[in-house]
Amino acid sequence: MLTGSETSKGIGIGVARVLGLTEISEMVSAGSVDAFFSSLKPGTVLVANHLTPYMVAKLKACGVAGFVCETGGMTSHSALVARSIGLPAVYGVPGATKAIQNGDTVIVDGLSGYVYERPDPELALEFASRKEKYIESRKELEKFCSMKTKMADSENAEVFCNVNDIVDVMHSLDNGGEGIGLYRTENLYAEAGHAPGEEEQVRAYSRIAQAMDGREVVIRTLDIGGDKSLPYLDMELESNPFLGYRAVRYSLGNRRFFATQLRAILRASALGNISIMIPMITCVDEMREVKALVYELKSDLRDEGYDYDDNIKVGCMIETPSAAIISDMLALESDFFSVGTNDLVQYTMSADRGNRNVAYLQSVTQPAVLRLIKQTIDNAKNAGVPVSVCGEAAADPALIPILAGMGCRRFSVNPGAVPEVRRTLSLWSVSDAEKYVSDILKMPSDNEIKEFMRRSARI
Ligand code: PEP
Ligand code: MG
Repeated sequence: MLTGSETSKGIGIGVARVLGLTEISEMVSAGSVDAFFSSLKPGTVLVANHLTPYMVAKLKACGVAGFVCETGGMTSHSALVARSIGLPAVYGVPGATKAIQNGDTVIVDGLSGYVYERPDPELALEFASRKEKYIESRKELEKFCSMKTKMADSENAEVFCNVNDIVDVMHSLDNGGEGIGLYRTENLYAEAGHAPGEEEQVRAYSRIAQAMDGREVVIRTLDIGGDKSLPYLDMELESNPFLGYRAVRYSLGNRRFFATQLRAILRASALGNISIMIPMITCVDEMREVKALVYELKSDLRDEGYDYDDNIKVGCMIETPSAAIISDMLALESDFFSVGTNDLVQYTMSADRGNRNVAYLQSVTQPAVLRLIKQTIDNAKNAGVPVSVCGEAAADPALIPILAGMGCRRFSVNPGAVPEVRRTLSLWSVSDAEKYVSDILKMPSDNEIKEFMRRSARI
């Protein structure tokens, strides 16, 4: 048995295909990545050292049973994609590509984070039955897909979805997502294999806005850099990519490139309820620069005879400690906030979100992180700026009452998590959640808070 640190829920049982580092690099240089993924047979368990988010997205189409990865943490982008496509996976399993051989039967237990190589028939049977039970429990949640989102005292809340593409949007609709709280546009740039032009982007954004039929769609501008690179952009190699030239920094440094995306979003806004969200904001000046550019582009579009929503909202992600600390000031420059807990944890705790050795620090319940989230929500409320949470914390039943108790009413989560988030909210009244948070905020340690949460769990 092998142990991993992080997971994507579900149980997968299948036949191993091991993909070592050398084989991956050879595939990348030979340009045969797509061919490899389309050759995988349904029922395969892929065992790899590392896969990029774009490679994991390809697993969606080939019906693999599960995925084991030696590297990666809970909120590494690769793990986020696995979760969003509902693929059972265990991350952070050192030595997996050595311990498992091609053709081995493998059980991927994404519920508990264990991987069983060459299980005996009894264990395989046990897991086949657990898999059935898991599927049953998912079915029980289905009734929450069509319900309104209400807390136990009938307080209204909303469950939006995080999506990468139109297929995720369809999953969001199937699961009862009330809007798109985060459209990560990186996938559009990666899939195209080139920088997508304005028309190509207008088509992609319009399609999503039209599919959502008037419901809100928050399009995040390109969040490139960190653990997401685009080979055709020829970005400089950096020794600290997560602290480097990424997201809005890259966009503002490459204005024509950025303008193409903003123009496309503006044009698509004529056809649906679209907002613009800016990633990795750290200071007011960045936000002002973005808004000035949006203003300038609107005037160009007007001169060229294009329609757009003149009242389009421009908001920012609060995912750096600096943004949270000055959230009262950023609120004056932003139409909305969305708290990105994945990066907020990484930057507050100085712990790379993809590094399993520091996974113990990647916890939303670290008091420093909780204070920043609380401060952000308080500042947003004082300024009358809507605030949501779109990091993985928003989908975690253990963390939802904390966020709700702090005043969050919009949760943006991977489409598969919508019913569970709705059920969790239905179990908590506002006053219970507020009391819960006020107890938690007095505790000085992540371990103490986790223990308290275990004792207070409602499911
Ligand atoms: C986050 O940082 O919490 C977030 C939602 O953005 P991403 O995971 O894409 O970095
Ligand atoms: Mg982020």
